[in-house]
Amino acid sequence: MKPYVHTFKTLKSDYFYDVNKNSVVPISSELYNYINCILAEKTMPELSNSAKQELDTLYKDGYLSSNRVKRFEHPQTKYLDDYLSRKLKNLSIELTQNCNLRCSYCNYTSNNGSSRLHNNKQISFEVIEKALNILRDNSLDNKEVSIGFYGGEPLMEFETICKTVELSKTIFKGKKVNYTVTTNGTLFSDDILNFMEQNDFMLVISLDGPKEINDLNRKFSNTEDSVFEKVIFWVERIISNYPNFKNKFGINMVIDPRQDFTQYSKLFTDYPVLNEVLISINTVDDSNKVEKYKQTEDFNKKSNYARFLAYLNFFDEIEFKTNHFYSYFYNQLISKMIEGFDTQEKLDECFAPSGPCTPGEHRLFLNTEGIFFPCERISEIPEINMIGDVVNGLSTEKSSKVLNISRSQFSNCQDCFAFRGCSNCVKAFDNYDNDKDSIKVMCELSREDFNYELVGRTIMQEIKEI
Ligand code: SF4
Ligand code: SF4
Repeated sequence: MKPYVHTFKTLKSDYFYDVNKNSVVPISSELYNYINCILAEKTMPELSNSAKQELDTLYKDGYLSSNRVKRFEHPQTKYLDDYLSRKLKNLSIELTQNCNLRCSYCNYTSNNGSSRLHNNKQISFEVIEKALNILRDNSLDNKEVSIGFYGGEPLMEFETICKTVELSKTIFKGKKVNYTVTTNGTLFSDDILNFMEQNDFMLVISLDGPKEINDLNRKFSNTEDSVFEKVIFWVERIISNYPNFKNKFGINMVIDPRQDFTQYSKLFTDYPVLNEVLISINTVDDSNKVEKYKQTEDFNKKSNYARFLAYLNFFDEIEFKTNHFYSYFYNQLISKMIEGFDTQEKLDECFAPSGPCTPGEHRLFLNTEGIFFPCERISEIPEINMIGDVVNGLSTEKSSKVLNISRSQFSNCQDCFAFRGCSNCVKAFDNYDNDKDSIKVMCELSREDFNYELVGRTIMQEIKEI
């Protein structure tokens, strides 16, 4: 069998990443070509004496092994029952499948059939009560629990939020309850904010850059009014009139890679108050969309230039005047690239690709029909994504299938160099029923990301050694 490795180059040297050892090794270009011939099943060239010696030393040290995992079982599988019956922490509740906006990138506005569309379904209070009881009964090991309000747009169901908070005070007596609302930020009122301030809510508001960009994708369902102006009005009001939300208020920004990358930072220069709030940034997830948000050449160039500046800034080569957008973007980038590798001896016989999270460990999502899912990001349509319901509780067996979803494409994963750095979970299979090739696209992306990470971390290491 072929060695379980992946080769790559930097400007300085040639390398291979050894999946068994989880480490990157510099090699001569002669050996680099030789290993590539083995991997591509081509005739191998004759090696010089020094390359033969190099190869022997690597074999002696346990590198270039062809060992593969023989059976997939995620290491957390044996603890699943414990997580689901004693350690639940978070519950996100989908209050409604309706929204007063129709954002173009939202799966629920239009999609490829792998996710539901906006509709008038709301959750019943009876379902919420049952779910809260399940959260209480299965969180015995935690002194705190968190309840998140989701939608659609959760503020369309503000009364249900109030009733849920009231009920939680009785159900979770003796435990601290943290509340979060994830909202489009257009339906606030002072009454709503007063209630949320009194109950110590965390607010997460969507805002996708300056007005020209935000309003391209984010639109009201029934008027041409600017969504940006409505949201920024409330954001500024919260910051000036509700000081208790300091550190409990975040902006969630979705970046459209067809727009001008540099414009996103303009939001923080135009509205300096935003530099005081927490932010999180993601690129549009178009995996369930018919319309694809293809990155432009211009976006690619500008974001790469920003990365280049981030590296220079990190190594104190330039004084980098930053705003919140850049510091978030850079911190994310740099923190990942400076992490070393956790070197291992070899892969166990029984193991699994790194992608999935443990259902119930950090997230749990309840939809309007009372069905549980591992998180709010995955489709509510495929049956495999459903891990229980409010009548029967959470199922260890179904959760185990989600955690071990990679078994469904064992031979691909068993041979994949991204095994230890894979980002695919059950979400990657959301569109599998409609398009069997969709998983291949997700695997390509995951491998591309992991290769990028290997190269980036190695370059950081090279620079540190200069
Ligand atoms: S997207 Fe996948 S890995 Fe991420 S929280 Fe959801 S189920 Fe877990
Ligand atoms: S990228 Fe795809 S083939 Fe590779 S480990 Fe992840 S799920 Fe498996």
